[in-house]
Amino acid sequence: AKTQGKDAYAMFEPSMRQGFDREVMWRAELQQALQHSALHVVFQPIVTLAGRRVAGVEALARWNHPHLGVVPPDVFIPVAERAGLIGDLGLLVLRRACAEFASWPGSQTAYLSVNVSPSQMLDASFPSKVAATLYEAGLRPGQLVLEVTENALADESEVIGALRRLREFGIRIAIDDFGTGYASLRYLHRFPADIVKVDRTYVQDIARDPAAVHILGTLWQLFGAIGLTAVAEGIEDQAQAAMLMDLGCRVGQGFLYGRPGPLSAITTEPATADQS
Ligand code: C2E
Ligand code: CA
Ligand code: CA
Ligand code: CA
Repeated sequence: AKTQGKDAYAMFEPSMRQGFDREVMWRAELQQALQHSALHVVFQPIVTLAGRRVAGVEALARWNHPHLGVVPPDVFIPVAERAGLIGDLGLLVLRRACAEFASWPGSQTAYLSVNVSPSQMLDASFPSKVAATLYEAGLRPGQLVLEVTENALADESEVIGALRRLREFGIRIAIDDFGTGYASLRYLHRFPADIVKVDRTYVQDIARDPAAVHILGTLWQLFGAIGLTAVAEGIEDQAQAAMLMDLGCRVGQGFLYGRPGPLSAITTEPATADQS
């Protein structure tokens, strides 16, 4: 097997070797970052569109590398998954997010939403790890939402089982990036989920594509009928917000309401509350 491995390596094109070396470099760097807990979390508000009340906050992982600068999660999350580090990374993020959230005044009225990779849930002890983390932070299960992409739900029965256990415990589940993956509408009502987050590509389309408006309007009715709370992602301007409200959308998230940042920057009362 050793010689085979050697031969395989010799077959690499210079560019592939470079890619391989880069992957090895990323893994080592990420391992170091995890050892030194060099990852942190920023938060983005999830608001009611009409009153701009903060309904929840989404925790988003950040890695500020001493030499490479800020590495975006779209880069380091896949690296962590391939390197088998996503379990440790995910737990670190969850712990950080819960600890910060617990000492934030808004935690009494808003929920905490945390992203979870499907591979994290293949670990049979994941639900009990989440429960332990909540307990350590002094949070109730009802204060936590876990976000999973619809692809994770498509065929993994282990993932579905883990989600069921988490929900029995009182944690809510959100289907993230809805409409970008392979999930079929036929199975939507069978997913153990409470919230559905409609991907921002749909929100972007409504301004220029009349058909997209019909699709979204119909989707919102469907979500309501099967008991899912819908959240629109990536709302960047007031025109989008107005159209979404016309379609019956009540909760959303996007740069219009706040960019990801420190939790202390998010206030649960509208700034103009005492003037109105
Ligand atoms: P996501 O879960 O769909 O998170 C939303 C992403 O959209 C965030 O990017 C956010 O900054 C960005 N965003 C929010 N509002 C707007 C808007 O109005 N316009 C535009 N153009 N973008 C907006 P971010 O923080 O770079 O995260 C990218 C992705 O990385 C996330 O997408 C999520 O899939 C993944 N990710 C981030 N943190 C974690 C984590 O702790 N665990 C896991 N498994 N994945 C994570
Ligand atoms: Ca998300
Ligand atoms: Ca999303
Ligand atoms: Ca995403």
